[in-house]
Amino acid sequence: MKAVVTSLGSRSVLVHADGLGEIRCSLRGHLWEKSEEETRPLAVGDRVSLNPDLTHGEDQCLEGVIEDVAPRRNRIARAPAGSRGAPGKRDPTKRGPGGGSAGRRPDQESGGRSRHTAAGKVQVIAANIDQILVVAALHSPPFRPGLVDRFLVAAAAEEIDVLLVLNKVDLANHDDERSVVEPFQQAGYSVIQTSTVTGEGIEELAAAMASGIHLLVGHSGTGKSSLLNAVAPTLSLTTSEVTAHHGRGRHTTTHVSLLPLPAGGWVIDSPGIREWVLEGVSPALLARLYPGFGEIPHECHYGDCLHRDEPQCALRQAVEEGLYPEDRYACYLRVLADLQGS
Ligand code: GDP
Ligand code: ZN
Repeated sequence: MKAVVTSLGSRSVLVHADGLGEIRCSLRGHLWEKSEEETRPLAVGDRVSLNPDLTHGEDQCLEGVIEDVAPRRNRIARAPAGSRGAPGKRDPTKRGPGGGSAGRRPDQESGGRSRHTAAGKVQVIAANIDQILVVAALHSPPFRPGLVDRFLVAAAAEEIDVLLVLNKVDLANHDDERSVVEPFQQAGYSVIQTSTVTGEGIEELAAAMASGIHLLVGHSGTGKSSLLNAVAPTLSLTTSEVTAHHGRGRHTTTHVSLLPLPAGGWVIDSPGIREWVLEGVSPALLARLYPGFGEIPHECHYGDCLHRDEPQCALRQAVEEGLYPEDRYACYLRVLADLQGS
């Protein structure tokens, strides 16, 4: 029987199986053994196989045993304590959880996310994400292109599809909207414009989240909770009250759960995940995957070109020839400087 992991407790794992709902599970011993690199053998979003002989617990909750875990398509992970940046990927040829994603180009393996160090194990926060929704607002808070760019790079590094959600369009005028949206559309991103005040775009957003596992990221105050409440009014989102109840700060940042959406998809709910997503964006990754760069970085003379002042840089040439917008290149340089300074 197949199921998806929705929540991890200290002693048990909650999974959801179609037609049966929630099942409280324990793990076969061998699943603990293979977690040499990771703090836990499972993460929210993992696809698991269950022993079909389910029983009922004292509280009538169905109980079962997880026999195996399917290889992950992607993952969001947190670097081990003491190391900088997000964890590197495991060998993509390796099978098993966290074994990397299929179809990655060999050149994408080098110089990307910082390697995980011997300091400890990585903490995989969520796996098998189908779509990252990068939520931004034009006003209050103001649009921050550099931050949006970094989220887009983080998603591209994991080969996760991205949807850019421009919220609070009720506060913006049409020209502002167009000037923000166009460069991203030209770079091949889908953009949905929404307002939780007027309801614009909410149906479209709900349709975009109707199947698969979704993760909302974005600057605080852009309207992520409001958008989730608009597409799924019955969701019980993690609130500061709930985390305060648990008492410990670390608990707040490590608790992740998968919540069902009424239309059929799932959303990852986690207070701290936005920072972890950004941890993994290194200068090298930015230089290769910046929105709109496409294949241009492959033409640079140096494989690790950061497109600043390196000789025979295809990107600077593209800017000079008007093939890549100058203002976007300027924005890239600012984000790069930020990353290098941090
Ligand atoms: P989060 O931090 O991204 O989860 O943002 P919230 O959902 O908490 O929203 C932050 C603030 O923006 C709240 O005061 C919301 O009422 C407001 N807000 C959310 N969506 C919209 C919108 O579409 N238009 C306007 N004008 N305000 C919004
Ligand atoms: Zn270059």
